[in-house]
Amino acid sequence: MISTRYLFPEIPEELKGLEDLASDMLWHTVSGSRRLWRKIDPLLWESTSNPWFILERLSKEKIKALSQDPEFQSLFKCQLEERKRYFEQKTWFEENFPYFKGHIAYFSMEFGLGEELPIYSGGLGILAGDYLKAASDLGLPVVGIGLLYQQGYFRQLIDSNGEQVEFYPYNDPALLPVFPLRDDSGEWISIEVPLPGRSLVLRPWYVIVGRVSLYLLDSNDPANMPSDRTITSTLYGGDNEMRLLQEIVLGIGGWKLLSKLGIECNICHLNEGHAAFAILERAKDYMQQMALPSFWTALWATRSGNLFTTHTPVEAGFDRFAPSLFLKYFFDFCQDVKIAPEELLALGQLNKSKEEPFNMAYLALRGSAATNGVSKLHEKVSQTIFRGLFPRWPTWQIPIGSVTNGVHVATWHSQETDELWTSICGKDLWRQPTEKLEEKFRSASDCTLWEWRKKNRLNLILALRKRSRCHCAMLGKHPDIMSQCSCLFDPNVLTIGFARRFASYKRPTLLLHDKERLVKIITDPHKPVQLVVAGKAHPQDQVGKAMIREWTAFVARKELHNRVVFVEDYDMRLALDLVQGIDLWINNPRRPWEASGTSGMKVVVNGGLNLSELDGWWAEAYSAELGWAIGDGKEHGEDPAWDAFEADQLYSLLEKEIIPAFYDRDERGIPQKWVNKIRESAARLTPFFSANRMVREYTNAYYIPLCYAAEKRRAKSGELARELEKWKKTIATHWNSIHFGNFHAVQDQGQIHFSIQVYLDEIPPDWVVVELYADPKEQTAPFCNIMEKGEALVGALNGFTYRLTVNTQRPPEDFTPRIRPYHPDAFLPTEAPEILWYK
Ligand SMILES: *Cc1c(COP(=O)(O)O)cnc(C)c1O
Repeated sequence: MISTRYLFPEIPEELKGLEDLASDMLWHTVSGSRRLWRKIDPLLWESTSNPWFILERLSKEKIKALSQDPEFQSLFKCQLEERKRYFEQKTWFEENFPYFKGHIAYFSMEFGLGEELPIYSGGLGILAGDYLKAASDLGLPVVGIGLLYQQGYFRQLIDSNGEQVEFYPYNDPALLPVFPLRDDSGEWISIEVPLPGRSLVLRPWYVIVGRVSLYLLDSNDPANMPSDRTITSTLYGGDNEMRLLQEIVLGIGGWKLLSKLGIECNICHLNEGHAAFAILERAKDYMQQMALPSFWTALWATRSGNLFTTHTPVEAGFDRFAPSLFLKYFFDFCQDVKIAPEELLALGQLNKSKEEPFNMAYLALRGSAATNGVSKLHEKVSQTIFRGLFPRWPTWQIPIGSVTNGVHVATWHSQETDELWTSICGKDLWRQPTEKLEEKFRSASDCTLWEWRKKNRLNLILALRKRSRCHCAMLGKHPDIMSQCSCLFDPNVLTIGFARRFASYKRPTLLLHDKERLVKIITDPHKPVQLVVAGKAHPQDQVGKAMIREWTAFVARKELHNRVVFVEDYDMRLALDLVQGIDLWINNPRRPWEASGTSGMKVVVNGGLNLSELDGWWAEAYSAELGWAIGDGKEHGEDPAWDAFEADQLYSLLEKEIIPAFYDRDERGIPQKWVNKIRESAARLTPFFSANRMVREYTNAYYIPLCYAAEKRRAKSGELARELEKWKKTIATHWNSIHFGNFHAVQDQGQIHFSIQVYLDEIPPDWVVVELYADPKEQTAPFCNIMEKGEALVGALNGFTYRLTVNTQRPPEDFTPRIRPYHPDAFLPTEAPEILWYK
């Protein structure tokens, strides 16, 4: 199966299959598999968590010893059996969509599958990794497309002054679980992307994620010019031109790879706007394949198979490129598809001006049938951000939906957690629909839950002690200090965690607002608290770095000795330790800037509780029985007085509710209230905020309907696509000539009879709808209903009276007619945002 081996010796018969376990990144996350690799080489496992690397390092002697070790053999056989069973199981997707043919291509700038493949920086990448794993569990025909970075995101060290220092260790592909993608004849496939005056050669690699393949592109090919070889060096490094080139590699190179492999791709799912160039390449590819005369027809035919997921809560988060820079790289493309450069540029602009930058999110939205945000609140926020693309549309009708993020539970639960859930809910629980788990998990007893928490907390503390010893030794600390590291933290003390990127909107120093108050909370002799903090600041973010210094200075205070730690290099491995062992996870972003947030979801399955701002996923998940919230569910900008208010909320909740609940024990030693919250939070939140539910929701709400729509548009050589294009052209040409005549509203015993005269110029009446609309008011829902077409107006071309009778208490002045384009097979208003209001 694996066609290239670099170092390791021949694997004997008794260990056949070890390569399969080592190369499958989904399998790395299974708890039994973690035990297996730890057993093979505990030290290398500790330092790399990279099974592939461990396999490469196996000596002949070790192989022999393992072949003869009965304990290892039984663990190994069991893993092989389990994996075989995994592949033989009938999946949710097969069961529900047996006739589905084709693939879903998932494009993302980063993928966080595990620390052994460091090509992610934070939440976006980890979501993409969790998505692929859940897609494999559920049997979706997904292929991932991403980049293989030579360095990835930076690694962090905290020096003796408490400052962040950055390192960019080289990712040697030979030692990563990635493999050259070869064709049937064994030749390494190569992709060429045209750039001005040259061709960029890309080398594809593949990563195995259970049933799913992830393809990674890399420009570090000796055939490229030196500057081009560095395009895929670092994630989120380099200047704007470098970013544009990376996005060309991802979108254009990615689509070319799919074509080259002959992968029939019905759905193209863009995880953030970075990948939006795939829309252009897909349309161009279709245009050439079908020998269509027009690029726009091709876009009409392919758009229905594109889905855009936006992750940004602020407009500043979108990638933008100056028109001159954009056209430098897309001039030839325009010639190839025979359109004017301004036309292409306009796809990424609001006002079609010469100076306005090209916005990737605009291209992504306009080039996709549907767009979704990543939580219910983020849907609302995104509707506001994209309002500019839909002038005169009410914000609540801007066509953006939501699929709330979820986490791949089997990646983030501890071995103890796995055992507990399995004992209560049965085997393979995260590979099937999760709706029934809630009731089952509620049967867990107080004792069971509290014993489970003890184990999870203890494991975290042991891991922190190890890290702390290592850190002190590196800084050359005195042996006395080193030995104190072995007593870091108390396994019976409430353990609080705060770990995330140090970006200003996440307010990483809110807890430090009143340092003396926090010290008092932590050092209470009867109800003490211990606190773990971690996070990286972007290398160019001076404010973020200063916030790290503020924390490291705080941690260094004498009275907090062994009670607070700042752990360096927050990554997936550290996150694993933290989310499994933490009792209380704090998150205090500035609402509404946390689009979703996922770290808190990783905590709930392991029995940790959340104290969080009512933002992102928590705005949707929170209820008083299962955690705590700060904020008032409203936005307050960057008001320092509001920050102070929320800091006070944090402290007060800790002092008055949270800490007392943790230490209030019954005669058995169990904190009744706390345990009830654990049960409720784990039972209710885990099934819903799982990637399993998220992937099923994407399938039902988007993939399947879009697939039908896309098939319909492409049938009969794109007949429907051509019809839609014609429809849109007619609308655009005649829209400005549409106008209203008389409008009447007659009140009659709680009813209002509305009628309006409409002149549609040369637009056939089937191609528009006339609606009666009223804005939402304090307690009243908005009103929006179609008016019925009545008799033709005498002496008019396409002139009609439209009528509607409404039962309402609202005054007639609240209502106004409006006209918008309509076609049963169009995605509206995305594909035709025109709208005309009577007033
Ligand atoms: C889960 C995770 C994130 C994303 O979590 P947020 O809630 O967005 O902070 C970021 N980094 C790592 C290493 C993670 O494991």
